Amino acid sequence: MRLKTKVVVIIAGLLLSVSITGSIINYMKNVQDTQAQLQNTSLPLSVDNIYTEIQQRMIEPLLVSSLMSHDTFLRDWLMDGEKDMDGIVRYLTEIQQKYDIFTTFLVSDKTKNYYHPRGLIDVVNKDNSADAWYFRFKDQSEPYEINLDHNANLSDTLIMFINYKVMNYKNEMIGVTGVGVRLLNIEKMLSSFKTKYKYDVYFVDQKGEITLFSQALNKRGNIANIDGLKSIKEAIYKGEQTQFEYKNKEGEYLLNTKYIEKLKLQLFVEIDKKEYLKELKKTFYANLAISLLVTLLVTLIIIYTINIYQKQLVKMASEDSLTGLANRRKFNEHFEKFYKLYKKGINSLTLMLIDIDDFKEVNDTFGHLVGDEALVRVAEILRVELRSSDMVARWGGEEFALLFVDVSSEKSVEIAQKICQAIREDKVLSSLLQRPLTVSIGVGHLSSLESQDGLVYKVDNALYEAKKAGKDQVIVA
Ligand code: GH3
Ligand code: MG
Ligand code: MG
Repeated sequence: MRLKTKVVVIIAGLLLSVSITGSIINYMKNVQDTQAQLQNTSLPLSVDNIYTEIQQRMIEPLLVSSLMSHDTFLRDWLMDGEKDMDGIVRYLTEIQQKYDIFTTFLVSDKTKNYYHPRGLIDVVNKDNSADAWYFRFKDQSEPYEINLDHNANLSDTLIMFINYKVMNYKNEMIGVTGVGVRLLNIEKMLSSFKTKYKYDVYFVDQKGEITLFSQALNKRGNIANIDGLKSIKEAIYKGEQTQFEYKNKEGEYLLNTKYIEKLKLQLFVEIDKKEYLKELKKTFYANLAISLLVTLLVTLIIIYTINIYQKQLVKMASEDSLTGLANRRKFNEHFEKFYKLYKKGINSLTLMLIDIDDFKEVNDTFGHLVGDEALVRVAEILRVELRSSDMVARWGGEEFALLFVDVSSEKSVEIAQKICQAIREDKVLSSLLQRPLTVSIGVGHLSSLESQDGLVYKVDNALYEAKKAGKDQVIVA
């Protein structure tokens, strides 16, 4: 692998691993933080909010039920043999209307009659499962109980019944009275937790039955039959712990619970980890994409910078800084390449060496800076005179070398003459030096059996001959 590729791969690899590791660590920390925040703050807060809401909703009906059970009219009416039906119906209707309650009721223990604002609508019966609540409650020592019930008599909506015992003056139970309030809004509230926070809120009774839930909940029945929940059921009911994690085929859950004494229900507030992991994963992928993009950009900048430096280095290594022509190194490479092709019989080669006449005098008269200017101008003239395929290089101080491929001897002499003339007649040079500048040129054609050095030697001699013969002329080797 090239050094440049190696450097780019190492830097890009480092950047990439740093950004990927960073994103992963960030994601894991986010998951941990979100989980802790949910378990320690959001879920308990929701539990408390729902608990408070329910408490508040129970206060008034509880008060009304208590008031009814202690009402002397009601107690006397029961003890007097339940005679005036209109009276009790008026009483129950008035309370229902006054407190805007869904229903009020009274059950006589003696006759088992169930009175309602519409009148006597039922007789509670031990053998009827719908009436089981009455006999169960009767056996309990508490003065009241709260029941959640889907009552078919009451158009099958979920009703919270508050049952209060009615006692005679000897403190014996003579009936049960109370109110039923619709829990429509509670269901709405439970649904809103799902839509707003993705929390599932539901209530579980003492037997483990899920009794109150929003329609969106995908759990039904007894928690003893729900994977994941069944294993923590005991711990939930012990009440020593209120924070749980469980999983099953449907998902992984964080669960917070609270026992609501008055309802004898466990309140469950849980969230499926999928819900928040989805968001966190989105952030993770966005972070990763940004990191990859930054890595890509940095890598491109590195490649770009290296390329620029590389080009500069190549240029510095192959170009003459003063004239911008190829330097001797570059010329030799080129010469070598075409010499090899020549050896294979592919092309012919012509070398031309140009030396400026009396250049020392230029320097001596006008100084090195003007000398430099003259060199730059000569280079310009050479560039103009030659084809782009011809190689022209600064050979040494005030000497230039030219290499022609597939140019005949006659043609090369012609070119050399043209160069001599162009320099001699150049207006820029003559005004710079206040006299025409001239050059001497040696030209030589590479012949078979001749080495590279042999050709150089031959042409150098020709140049020497040109100098000796009075300069400003071309000699063919
Ligand atoms: P001849 O006609 O025999 O070639 O005489 P000459 O004076 O040109 O030759 P000589 O070799 O005596 O001197 C070459 C001069 O070129 C000497 C040197 O100072 C000058 N020279 C070489 N490189 C540079 C350069 O980069 N800039 C300048 N200004 N002068 C240079
Ligand atoms: Mg010289
Ligand atoms: Mg010279």
